[in-house]
Amino acid sequence: MTDRIREFLRNRREDGPCVVVDLDVVRANYAAFARALPDTRVFYAVKANPAKEVLRALVELGSCFDTASVAEIEMALAAGATADRISYGNTIKKERDIARAFALGVRLFAVDAVEEVEKVARAAPGAKIFCRILCDGAGAEWPLSRKFGCVPEMAADVLEHGHRLGLWAYGVSFHVGSQQKNVDAWDSALASASQIFQECALRGLPLSLVNLGGGFPTKYLQDVPAAEAYGQAIFRALSRHFGNHLPETIIEPGRGMVGAAGMIEAEVVLISKKSEDDPVRWVYLDIGKFGGLAETMDEAIRYPIRTPRDGDAVEPCVLAGPTCDSADVMYEKEPVLLPVSLAIGDKVLIEATGAYTTTYSAVAFNGFDPLRSYVI
Ligand SMILES: *Cc1c(COP(=O)(O)O)cnc(C)c1O
Repeated sequence: MTDRIREFLRNRREDGPCVVVDLDVVRANYAAFARALPDTRVFYAVKANPAKEVLRALVELGSCFDTASVAEIEMALAAGATADRISYGNTIKKERDIARAFALGVRLFAVDAVEEVEKVARAAPGAKIFCRILCDGAGAEWPLSRKFGCVPEMAADVLEHGHRLGLWAYGVSFHVGSQQKNVDAWDSALASASQIFQECALRGLPLSLVNLGGGFPTKYLQDVPAAEAYGQAIFRALSRHFGNHLPETIIEPGRGMVGAAGMIEAEVVLISKKSEDDPVRWVYLDIGKFGGLAETMDEAIRYPIRTPRDGDAVEPCVLAGPTCDSADVMYEKEPVLLPVSLAIGDKVLIEATGAYTTTYSAVAFNGFDPLRSYVI
């Protein structure tokens, strides 16, 4: 926890769980990405944390923005980003939203199917398109399945279709899976990208861009490689597959930009056992899956938890949220070790919660407020 967050929480008087995001950490993360990949432009994935202070700080640092909706485009614009610094990276867009984005000046769109290309061609004539290809997500703690992207063999057809309809066939994108801890995960996707570049060149469509996506991790319980290691591995893979003709590249970090910048403060509401001889205690917090900790689904993301009694003897606990939905249990298959001395009313800190928390919080499930957010 940063001193600034500690100081902020010491002075906070409001009741209820909150996340505090330290902009100094966001700025340091941006600098680390810029240093690790000096020839690559950064498009911050707005969905990870769209707080206006975060967007404004990144605008000042020169970041570009990857958006998934017209609302996110408007947030980036309101924060001071010009439209030429914004991509519409969602492959699933209504045609009228493409038209709105185009009217707002956005000229860079993701596609993964000819059906989507046709919408973009009608609603955003002449715009640049990049085709997203499937990635298996191996090595990622929050893999992205088959929902986005087409098989690499289809990409040239998708791009050529766009070209015929007057779009600018501009490049290829992929996402190696979120919280990707293998720095070499980009290699096979870059091999596919290079083949698509060659195929398109043969068809008279020289591509320019490889969008390397997100996937850069946040340190939760285990250490993760630094941005520099990702930069080196990606540069090696680019050189291996593109030789002396390196493409223009962009990255879209979300989690890696803001995850470590945030800290949730929550309160222990109840500690109990299900029977006299229950080997685990149940610890219920005033935040759960519906209050911002959605990424604990399937216990995928395991957040570090600090208590005021760290250092005391620990025992395994099931950790659950406060709502009346039985799915609102964060860690049960693999319980968390918490101090035996932990008591009802204690404040606990859930670390590295700057990404994918505020926007995943329900509006009023069981009457609980959405996660309050402070950016300092
Ligand atoms: C969510 C998303 C990202 C950010 O991914 P992280 O793993 O959080 O870095 C980047 N690009 C696209 C297209 C996304 O959907």
